[in-house]
Amino acid sequence: MNILIINAGSSSLKYQLIDMDTNQIAAKGTCERIGIGGFLTHTPKNGKPEFKGEMDFPTHVQAMEAVLDKLTSEEYGVISSMKEIDAVGHRVLHGGHKFSKSVLVDEKVKDAIRECIPLGPLHNPANLMGIEACEKAMPGVPQVAVFDTAFHQTMPEYAYMYAIPYKYYQEDHIRRYGFHGTSHRYVSGEALKLLGRVEGTKIITCHLGNGSSLAAVKDGKCVDTSMGLTPLEGVPMGTRCGSMDPAIVEFIANKEGLSASETLTMLNKKSGVAGVSGVSSDFRDLFAAADEGNHRAQLALDMFTYGVKKYIGAYIAAMGGVDCIVFTAGIGENNPKIREMCTRGLEWMGIEIDEEANNTRGTVDITGKNSKVKVFVIPTNEELAIALDTKEIVEAL
Ligand code: AMP
Repeated sequence: MNILIINAGSSSLKYQLIDMDTNQIAAKGTCERIGIGGFLTHTPKNGKPEFKGEMDFPTHVQAMEAVLDKLTSEEYGVISSMKEIDAVGHRVLHGGHKFSKSVLVDEKVKDAIRECIPLGPLHNPANLMGIEACEKAMPGVPQVAVFDTAFHQTMPEYAYMYAIPYKYYQEDHIRRYGFHGTSHRYVSGEALKLLGRVEGTKIITCHLGNGSSLAAVKDGKCVDTSMGLTPLEGVPMGTRCGSMDPAIVEFIANKEGLSASETLTMLNKKSGVAGVSGVSSDFRDLFAAADEGNHRAQLALDMFTYGVKKYIGAYIAAMGGVDCIVFTAGIGENNPKIREMCTRGLEWMGIEIDEEANNTRGTVDITGKNSKVKVFVIPTNEELAIALDTKEIVEAL
C-alpha cells in the first residue's frame, strides 16, 4: 500500500509518498511559489535523480498534477501509475472542537474544516485547497484529514477554558485547542511502548522546534498543552512571543500606531528568541552567538529553556507526578545542551539526564542513573503518524 501525505500551505505544498509495507518514504518533495510562479523539488528514494526546477503553478491543482507526473515519470518516478496511490492523508491545522480523531474526507468534513477557518485563518484555507486539488487531480482516491488539534480534545474543561466571559466560549468557541497534536500523540505513543504500559502513566512531551509546545499526557490521553486558541501561546518560540500579559498588545498597538492584527503579526513573526536576541530564530545561530559572548542570544536561550522548565513543573503538578519526559522536534531531537538546560535544577524532583547518552543521536534513553523519571529523546514522525491513521481508516472502508 502507498499513501501520499500532503501538507498544503497558502503558496506551498509538501508531499511524501510512503510505502506502508516498510513504513519508508518512497519519494518526497515541495511545490513552492504556487500562484506567483512555481518551483518543484522532487526527491525519489529509489536511486533516481532529484528534480529541481521552475514550473507554472497558477493554483494547487497544477502543483498536484506536477507531483503526480513526477511520481509516475520514467526519469524521476517511484511508481508506474497513479493507480498505485491507495489513499491521501492531509495534515489539517485546525479541527476546532469537531474532530477528536482523523476522518475520511467528505463534503461534511470539508464544511467543518471551512467553519474552522476563523480559528486557523492562515492554514485551514490552504489545507482545503490541498484537499480539493487532490480531488481534482486524483478523483476517487480516498482522502483522510488528520488534525493538529485532535489529540488535545481529551483535555478537561478546566484546562481548556480561558477566564474570559463565558459567552465567548458559547458563541465563538474561544478556548485552548493546542497544536502539534500528531507529534505529541506519536512520541507519547512511542514512549508508552518503551515504558511497556499505558494505564497509570504520566508523560510530558516537549515538541521543541521552530514552533514549540509541551503536552501533559496521562494514561495515554492529553490532559493539558501549552499552545492555545492559536499556536502563539506557550513557551517563547523562534519568532512567536509565547505567553505574555495581553495588555502589552494595546501598549504596542498605541505606541506604533498598529492595528490589533498588525500587532499580532509582529508577535507571531518578529518576536520569540529572534526578537529578544536580534540574532536569529535558529537555535544553532543563537548558540554560536552566545558562545561569542552575545548577551541577548544567551538571554533568549535562557528564556526559552526557563519557559520549558516552568511548563514541566506545571504539568507535574497537573498530573500529580511524572514517569517520563520526552524531547522531540528540530531542537529537542538535535540539541543536547537545550535538553540539559531544560532539566537542570530538577534533580530534587527525581529528574536527571545521563551526559553521555544525552550526546547520542536518534531514539535514546537519556535517563540519568539516579533518575526516578525516564527521559527519552524520540524523533517525531508526523508524516508516518498521518500515514498510519490514513491506512487504518481506508482499510476499514
Ligand atoms: P522543526 O520546526 O521541528 O523543523 O525544527 C526546526 C528548528 O530546529 C530550527 O529552527 C532550528 O532552530 C532547530 N535546530 C535544528 N537542528 C538544531 C541543532 N543541532 N541545535 C539547535 N537547534 C536546532
